Amino acid sequence: MQYHVILTKECNLNCSYCGGGSDSPPKDIQYSITDLKRFVSLDTAPVIEFYGGEPLLRIDTMEKIMDMIPARFVIQTNGLLLDRIRPEYLKKFHSILVSIDGRKEVTDRNRRSGIYERITRNVRLIRERGFRGDLIARMTVPQGTDIYENVRHLYDLGIFENIHWQLGFEMFWGSWNEEENSPEEWIGSYNLGITSLVEWWILEMESRNKVPGIVPFVCIMNSMLLNTPALLRCGSGIDFFTIMPDGRISACPVSIDFDFSIVGSIFHDAPATLCNKAAVGEPCISCHIFQICGGRCLFVNLGQNMLRKNGYDLICKTVRHLVRELEGALPKVQKFIDRGIIASMDFNYPEFNNGCEIIP
Ligand code: SF4
Ligand code: SF4
Repeated sequence: MQYHVILTKECNLNCSYCGGGSDSPPKDIQYSITDLKRFVSLDTAPVIEFYGGEPLLRIDTMEKIMDMIPARFVIQTNGLLLDRIRPEYLKKFHSILVSIDGRKEVTDRNRRSGIYERITRNVRLIRERGFRGDLIARMTVPQGTDIYENVRHLYDLGIFENIHWQLGFEMFWGSWNEEENSPEEWIGSYNLGITSLVEWWILEMESRNKVPGIVPFVCIMNSMLLNTPALLRCGSGIDFFTIMPDGRISACPVSIDFDFSIVGSIFHDAPATLCNKAAVGEPCISCHIFQICGGRCLFVNLGQNMLRKNGYDLICKTVRHLVRELEGALPKVQKFIDRGIIASMDFNYPEFNNGCEIIP
């Protein structure tokens, strides 16, 4: 299973759509690494993903965990301190997810002036220092983002293997700038961007014999090719749990302040007993694309009473549009595979739950 380990809730940024996340105490881990090891060792194939706040603010703790606990390692970081990871630890990471929102102006507006340059410089640096694993650009897509332009920008940079994104939480329950546009208008333009992105993705396959690593497209297309039903794709509450600084375990890394999300603790529970204690319910179960969507987001589903008016419908409009576009592209993809232009294996991603939620 995949464990997000919150090393600290402290962050060295104050991004416009985040504000530092949960600030409920404690900020730093209260358990010993031996406690964590005892819990994780009950899992035969553990993946530990360092998470925060900004996990690299506690690089000493991270290194101790990597020294003491046998696991696959992943980190989700804002990238500012990537240059501080020593090469021997860099090489131990299977995947590194770096938060970057697209073009320089977009990333710097959301995060802080100068952040884009630091992230891209550090990403190049860790490659030079020997990191050979999966480098994933992890975008947040708040109101106003041009999804086509910004995904294309990150792809064209040529420094990330894979690109993934999540819609900003203001779509659902944050404050919306009505002067800019309405949620319906923005979702309409976002969906148009997805259409253009799928068209480009298909053209790239045909002209370059390569499947661009656009995570939502690759993973959903894989399910379509294999005709296999999906569970909740982020895995929250299924094979993906978050270990909070006090040792409690949340089904989702974002909803740690909500009782519905708490499913156990490293002191009293074993990994196998955590599964399916928190699960997606209606309206997803009855939805005609549940088998392909999987329910999108446990937090939104269990916290739907907190959503803006028509919030669920608005979100689902993005999912249904994405699925429709990929269903439309499926015959071409199948044709490319049959002709040997690309291989069905190219869609076999991720190798294990690496913290990409798959459905934006
Ligand atoms: S499209 Fe919406 S209602 Fe349907 S399964 Fe996905 S999240 Fe649930
Ligand atoms: S998609 Fe939703 S439930 Fe899954 S990790 Fe993200 S916020 Fe949590």
